[in-house]
Amino acid sequence: MSSEATTLVVIETSAGAARDQSLELLAAARASDAGDVAAVVIGAGVSEVAQRVAGLGADTVYLAEDPALERYSTAGYVAAIESAIAASDPGVVLIAGTTSGRDLTPYLAASRGQECLTDCLEFRIEEGQAIGVRPVYQGKMIADVTIPAGDPTFISLRAGVFGQPAELVGGEVVELGLDLGAVDMPVEFVGLSQAKGGDTALEDADIVVAGGRGVGSAEQYQIILDLAQAIGGTVGATRAVTDLGWRPHHEQIGQTGANVRPKLYLGVGVSGAVQHAVGMQNSETIVAINRDPDAPIFRMAEIGVVGDLHEIVPHLIAKLEEVRGG
Ligand SMILES: Cc1cc2nc3c(=O)[nH]c(=O)nc-3n(C[C@H](O)[C@H](O)[C@H](O)COP(=O)(O)OP(=O)(O)OC[C@H]3O[C@@H](n4cnc5c(N)ncnc54)[C@H](O)[C@@H]3O)c2cc1C
Repeated sequence: MSSEATTLVVIETSAGAARDQSLELLAAARASDAGDVAAVVIGAGVSEVAQRVAGLGADTVYLAEDPALERYSTAGYVAAIESAIAASDPGVVLIAGTTSGRDLTPYLAASRGQECLTDCLEFRIEEGQAIGVRPVYQGKMIADVTIPAGDPTFISLRAGVFGQPAELVGGEVVELGLDLGAVDMPVEFVGLSQAKGGDTALEDADIVVAGGRGVGSAEQYQIILDLAQAIGGTVGATRAVTDLGWRPHHEQIGQTGANVRPKLYLGVGVSGAVQHAVGMQNSETIVAINRDPDAPIFRMAEIGVVGDLHEIVPHLIAKLEEVRGG
């Protein structure tokens, strides 16, 4: 990218707050050799979020507010981002690799007849080419993927890679004055049904307690829920567990599930297969309980406990309850 080009960062909001994965993009934009960093904050009643983003390294923050943007919709978010692109003329648009980001990035690129880069760990623009550094073969290798630079180039970045941005001198907030009345919104929001399994979204959780096939059965999985409750964590699972129907799919961590980066990941009866590892290996501290001393998860774990989880976990729960005052 030319040194003058602006990088536009898309800030998704949920329940009136910026998503952590989107805020990470500000750190990524600042780390690139780009010129100005602009951000578009999308949601309903999110002017305070825009002020916060202005203090996190965005030179200009475009505020895209509308009651219809309270919840994600492709058409609403696309209208907001297109409006911010028209206002900022960016060279690159960065989007978080969230579920909605995976929807938006190819949509925006394809609507211009362009290619896009997804799930990147790094990116750069060189001589009319956009290069994304991304994991391939279930994280066993890292590849440079090259596409023609677009106008702008749309890039989604893997969540949990860049960390949260530092506080910087505040930029300015500009209202976009969106009129979504003229936008065809083909999807109607009917209602929200809250999934059980913790108050925090798995990808935002500071503590994740993940159970694997070693737990034994859907009934025995209660021990994982009890441990999560005792430690104040969010419940996750391996694909073996979700495929068996012991837990819902949205709790799955890994290549075909959520990408987590908690302060503490506790894997119980989890072997640590590479497809699971790609979704949790960036956790700050990994603790594993497994009866097989050769289980691959022990190669990633800071703390490993070899033994039968059905003996160890009840002791752990009792100790946690004692320490946390019942
Ligand atoms: C294309 C593809 C995509 C995939 N995507 C994903 C993904 O996104 N996420 C994912 O998780 N997997 C994914 N998988 C599956 C993955 O390869 C593994 O099969 C899966 O992660 C294994 O889950 P597990 O660790 O629960 O089970 P297992 O590998 O069966 O491990 C169970 C572990 O429990 C231990 N154990 C058993 N009993 C006890 C006990 N009583 N006490 C203590 N330990 C005990 C065993 O020693 C063992 O290590 C994918 C596979 C493919 C092919």
